[in-house]
Amino acid sequence: MTHENPGKLVIISGPSGVGKSTVVSKLIESCPLPLELSISATTRPIRDDDRPGENYIFLKDDEFKERVKNNEFLEYVEVFGIGHWYGTLRQQVAKGLTAGKWIVLEIDVEGAAKVMKNHVDVVSIFIHPGSIQELERRLRGRRTNDEESITKRLAVAQDELDASSIYEHIVQNKTVDQTVNDICDILKKNAEQATANHDAGSQQDSSLN
Ligand code: 5GP
Repeated sequence: MTHENPGKLVIISGPSGVGKSTVVSKLIESCPLPLELSISATTRPIRDDDRPGENYIFLKDDEFKERVKNNEFLEYVEVFGIGHWYGTLRQQVAKGLTAGKWIVLEIDVEGAAKVMKNHVDVVSIFIHPGSIQELERRLRGRRTNDEESITKRLAVAQDELDASSIYEHIVQNKTVDQTVNDICDILKKNAEQATANHDAGSQQDSSLN
């Protein structure tokens, strides 16, 4: 069954503040594909709007290091260069893929590049904010980051926009619903293509008989 219905990795990136988390949760809720979010581990402080165990697994520095030592991460990155680590747990991904799920990784560009290097069957999508000014407006509106964090996030965002060409798809951020629709369409096309390839493969196989 795992060969019949292999899962897929879906990477969704975009600068902090672009509204990724909202888009990703709506996407998983509404897009008719077996999507499942990979819950990352992080050492960053818990924010008011976090749901520990649901949006992140929060770890202390030494717990994170221990997991790195045990090779438990598919990728891990110190995202904003301020001592906060984020990582994708192998176990989260492997379990879902075996079950034929499309595992959504909401990760930064550096982590995405590492995953793309090691995995072929990946759909990669970058959510583009339009402009850095728009992003700054959103980050300030969020009121959950201090000035140091906003400055860091904007600097990293510029680097991420510069690196966005490594993604297969770039989706311009519009309303949440429109962005969700655009991403869902990309995924549905990918699923149709995979089915067509699979059918073509089966026909070829039977013609060899
Ligand atoms: P936040 O602190 O706002 O929740 O997330 C900050 C950034 O970390 C986001 O851009 C998000 O995509 C990225 N991020 C979250 N989890 C992971 C992960 O497991 N690996 C990597 N490389 N980046 C992550």
